[in-house]
Amino acid sequence: MANMAPKKNEMPVQAPEVRNKNFSEVALGYTKEQAVDEAQRCLNCKNKPCVSGCPVSIDIPEFVEKVAQGDFEAAYEVIYRQSSLPAVCGRVCPQERQCESKCVRGIKGEPVAIGRLERFVADWHMANEHEKSKSANLQNGKKVAVIGSGPSGLTCAGDLAKMGYSVTIFEALHTAGGVLVYGIPEFRLPKDIVKREIENLKSLGVEIVTNAVIGKTLTVDELFEAGFEAVFIGSGAGLPRFMNIPGESLNGVYSANEFLTRTNLMKAYKEDSQTPIMHAKRVAVVGGGNVAMDAARCAKRLGAEDVYIVYRRSMDEMPARREEVEHAEEEGIIFKTLNNPVEILGNEQNFVNGIKCVRMELGEPDESGRRSPVEIKDSEYVLDVDAVIMSIGTSPNPLIRSTTEGLDTDRRGCIITKDESGLTSRAGVYAGGDAVTGAATVILAMGAGKSSAKAIDEYLKNK
Ligand SMILES: Cc1cc2nc3c(=O)[nH]c(=O)nc-3n(C[C@H](O)[C@H](O)[C@H](O)COP(=O)(O)OP(=O)(O)OC[C@H]3O[C@@H](n4cnc5c(N)ncnc54)[C@H](O)[C@@H]3O)c2cc1C
Repeated sequence: MANMAPKKNEMPVQAPEVRNKNFSEVALGYTKEQAVDEAQRCLNCKNKPCVSGCPVSIDIPEFVEKVAQGDFEAAYEVIYRQSSLPAVCGRVCPQERQCESKCVRGIKGEPVAIGRLERFVADWHMANEHEKSKSANLQNGKKVAVIGSGPSGLTCAGDLAKMGYSVTIFEALHTAGGVLVYGIPEFRLPKDIVKREIENLKSLGVEIVTNAVIGKTLTVDELFEAGFEAVFIGSGAGLPRFMNIPGESLNGVYSANEFLTRTNLMKAYKEDSQTPIMHAKRVAVVGGGNVAMDAARCAKRLGAEDVYIVYRRSMDEMPARREEVEHAEEEGIIFKTLNNPVEILGNEQNFVNGIKCVRMELGEPDESGRRSPVEIKDSEYVLDVDAVIMSIGTSPNPLIRSTTEGLDTDRRGCIITKDESGLTSRAGVYAGGDAVTGAATVILAMGAGKSSAKAIDEYLKNK
């Protein structure tokens, strides 16, 4: 008999006034008892609507049933069939818009906490099963190059290695993991977890070459000349956008990517870190996505007294995950919605000392379906801040497209693919993740890496 409690089991978390001063993980994870109790809320529906909400089609009812039976390793095996990064996905996937949004229990109460259960299972496996993942099939002698070690590249590489290919990942940074290590902060996704998932992949035979910028160190054509028979481009969308308003070149203006990279990858938050970062007292973060929430929460943890989210639409249109917005609010982040910056102001030494904003109201819906913000006349005012973090989106870096002959891209600089296989305009070159879609999500990037791995296998078998 299913557990008919209408609400999910709460996830234990660090108290807001404690966690906004440290970088340790906010959510603490279910205990065994909480996980089993939560799993028993699943009705094990015959038609499995939740699976259709999962971009990598994990058999959710099957893994949840194993949790309910207390067989956590079997649950892990079910998830691992489809996802090579379960500890990551259990933490950062927007489940409320994916699998959980389709859960039948959500009709009359809260859906089953699928994400929390995935996280529990992955963490249980890491803590209790020390065996490395099963080694890859016998090598088939064919070499594939993967550009970028974010979720799309890691997934594509892992799947190809399992099929017997000899895979090398070329990563521009000194550490593998993409946004998982340089963008998403430690308090949402501990870096040890990413490291262990990557070690798992290496044990399948995947080689990772860091500090290798494709387009500079080697070109795509040179990869083919070096004997790679197919290439997957998973280079993400790491180029920050700015608003092009006066004052953006003042000292104290950061792109969110730079601010987060300094804080996370370069560990600026540690006392002994050599990475320079401004410990500003009053910070404005411009934007309303997950990246803006991460930047604001990092600024608070670095010691800022007042941190503002300046966003031109209302709370309802905010693209960030609801949970992230709630966590930010609890931690004392001040939301200035329906506000838009028009100028950043500086002092005589060219350091930021304010941001001029106008108030907005919502007008007619635009092409995205969201009501567009319209400026209210004579509503200008100055917010007193000493740092501004721009978090209004990113696009793919032009380096690969400008050094690869015959690679078609669209007007946003995203690589054009022919279909779900990720095949580009160049034979043998596949692409996926943010480099194709623009900034999106971890699980969509993983799904793209998976589809391309399958397509590359078919291409090389028939070549
Ligand atoms: C701060 C932040 C928070 C986010 N939070 C969430 C969240 O909570 N949930 C969620 O689902 N998604 C979130 N996202 C989005 C998610 O992280 C991305 O959609 C996902 O990482 C995209 O994966 P990817 O593999 O396409 O690219 P990336 O993760 O960007 O990885 C691309 C890799 O390619 C490397 N690279 C780039 N150019 C080259 C080159 N020329 N040569 C070699 N290597 C190169 C880069 O250094 C990088 O390591 C967040 C993003 C950011 C920035």
